[in-house]
Amino acid sequence: MTQQPHIKLNDGQIMPQLGLGVWQADNKQVISAVETALDAGYRAIDTAAIYENEEGVGSALHNASLPREELFITTKLWNNRHGSQAPQQALEESLIKLKLDYVDLYLIHWPVPQQGKFVETWKALIKLKEQGLIKSIGVSNFNSSHIQKLLDETGVSPTVNQIELHPLFQQRQMHSWNATHHIATESWSPLAQGGDGVFDHAIITALSIKYGKTPAQIVIRWHLDNGLLVIPKSVTPARIRENFNVLDFRLDKDELGKIATLDISKRLGPDPETFKLGID
Ligand code: NAD
Repeated sequence: MTQQPHIKLNDGQIMPQLGLGVWQADNKQVISAVETALDAGYRAIDTAAIYENEEGVGSALHNASLPREELFITTKLWNNRHGSQAPQQALEESLIKLKLDYVDLYLIHWPVPQQGKFVETWKALIKLKEQGLIKSIGVSNFNSSHIQKLLDETGVSPTVNQIELHPLFQQRQMHSWNATHHIATESWSPLAQGGDGVFDHAIITALSIKYGKTPAQIVIRWHLDNGLLVIPKSVTPARIRENFNVLDFRLDKDELGKIATLDISKRLGPDPETFKLGID
């Protein structure tokens, strides 16, 4: 197996490009999923306080006894913990559940612009990083105007912007804006949640035959070859392994161009401008 690819973040930290997503996996499922993933070679895990499975992730990490510096653990601050004070306690709760002294990446999960607190929240994250509780700070579901506001008011750039991104919703403009600002783009729902006809599309199945890889592997490779961080989710051992077995081939420019034609601007998740779950 080829060595797994990494991305150097704008604060100098090194992040594995391919990780395991664990949304909608309960505490019990997530233990075996993370154990299988670590065994398969994954070192990055993407969880969030709202997934209510940080405890299971923590148990699996603890059981694996890998050197801490080999792991890259992301968690996220939920919408009802924005503000200048609340993030500290929220992070401390996450760290206890994860059984960690620090997280590698802490993201503001959603901007919740109606709440008007994401700038003070960002200032709180900057302080928590200074205290050593976080290695890198970033955002999720932020659009360019939200990030510009962070830059204008603090001068501190997010390292990562984790956004919905898959072949049906390629977010080329946001990806390019992030890149111009040296912010790494991370794709959530990278497999379009396993549905919506992506795996059956003729362009994907043709590449699948050409490379002797599954449609999911072709899609994951597409993210990697576009320079995206990617966190496919599965709790099925064979799929967890399959999704990591993508390091021995590459798509060429022409093939990436073909997949680019699948974009139909189809969002599967909520719109960040209006999403405010947790604060109602
Ligand atoms: P995904 O696109 O990764 O799809 C996961 C689904 O695809 C699985 O449940 C399974 O049904 C199917 N699948 C997985 N591997 C497969 C394979 N090899 N063959 C066939 N089918 C396969 O969807 P997701 O879970 O929504 O996104 C991935 C991760 O992104 C999440 O687990 C979470 O960590 C993160 N996420 C973040 C946000 C955010 O707001 N920041 C939102 C959603 C998800």
